Amino acid sequence: MTARSARKSQPHVVPPFSVKGGELMVGGLPLSRLAARVGQTPFYAYDRTKLTERAEALKAELSDHVRLHFAMKANPMPALVCHMAGIVDGCDVASGGELKVALDAGFEPPEISFAGPGKSDSEIHQAVASGILVNVESFREIRILSASSEELGLPARVSVRVNPDFDLKRSGMRMGGGPKQFGIDSERVPEALAMIAEHGLSFEGFQIFAGSQNLSAESLAEAQSKSFELALALSASAPAAVRCLNLGGGFGVPYFPGDGPLNIGAAVDTLNQVAERSAEELGAHVVLELGRFLVSEAGIYVCRVIDKKPSRGHTFLVTDGGLHHHLSASGNFGQVIRRNYPVVLGTRMGDEEARERVSVVGPLCTPLDVLADDVELPQAVPGDLVVVFQSGAYGVSASPSEFLSHPPVVEVLV
Ligand SMILES: *Cc1c(COP(=O)(O)O)cnc(C)c1O
Repeated sequence: MTARSARKSQPHVVPPFSVKGGELMVGGLPLSRLAARVGQTPFYAYDRTKLTERAEALKAELSDHVRLHFAMKANPMPALVCHMAGIVDGCDVASGGELKVALDAGFEPPEISFAGPGKSDSEIHQAVASGILVNVESFREIRILSASSEELGLPARVSVRVNPDFDLKRSGMRMGGGPKQFGIDSERVPEALAMIAEHGLSFEGFQIFAGSQNLSAESLAEAQSKSFELALALSASAPAAVRCLNLGGGFGVPYFPGDGPLNIGAAVDTLNQVAERSAEELGAHVVLELGRFLVSEAGIYVCRVIDKKPSRGHTFLVTDGGLHHHLSASGNFGQVIRRNYPVVLGTRMGDEEARERVSVVGPLCTPLDVLADDVELPQAVPGDLVVVFQSGAYGVSASPSEFLSHPPVVEVLV
């Protein structure tokens, strides 16, 4: 057996959606009924109850000194962000566009922070006018903040995003350590702090975000401890008391065969200890900012089989959905080796007899348009509904919807 097929034969962690009468139940409705309600395939559905349960379960484990933020770029659907505003403590935005959605959704400006390299002058101006916290990532941003603050006659709330001198081990995506476009290199942070003091900006703390999509509680704990030690050292040069320490997040979700779920208890253990120390030694609360961990599992992507096509001994299920709506599931959003997301036939659940090996593909004229490569599914016919799990994060907004000019996808919150 090759390494590839060995990995493939390992099971997926399939999110716990219930099944009734052979159909996946979504938001209390059988999938085919939901599809009729939506009025078209493909569509994304996000389950409110699951979103709430996830956040509540995590909050129950967190110390009072930790605030849970939603990183909106994982899913900026306005209705979903509105729902999140009721269940988390704050929101992290990465553009002026996301800031608008966060404010519309009811997040209070004191609870919103703004990170991202290359913030434009006008985005920084909007941020100051809104009264949100800006995580500055360059010396230029400090100058622009200062100018905006003067022009508007408002304080500029600032936190320094630090590019640490370590990275988050075993991460799907590294966001810190070594040369990076994110944050200010830790060795230059004292200089940035002096500049913040000189310009009289309102300093509030640090953000240290080392990496993303991590399933190892041990690696996360190590990054949390190192980030805290770094913040503690940098606080000696701070122009004012550190009030808020954003230690990033990085909590991953099990997308692929063989991935196990993150052990939440273990992942927050060190964070809670760090938060206690932060409260005692700095008087600062800790922010945990999570995107995919909060929303991925609550979301599904649904498309319809439109053709079933044998080709030289292999069977293709051709659907109306594909990489133009769901680039991540096609394996083209940062995966080095393409691996399948968990996929089922939502209209033939528990159909254990008559199974077959198929590849589920989309309608685009490119071999990259694959939703599931060589998987075993119940025998499908055109009209059946394919469900891709773990689709609540980095779906629509992370996909090239214009590519090949197919109709846009619809999103519903159920
Ligand atoms: C993307 C991003 C996140 C969210 O990452 P997830 O892996 O979805 O949790 C959090 N913070 C910052 C600064 C980010 O850029």
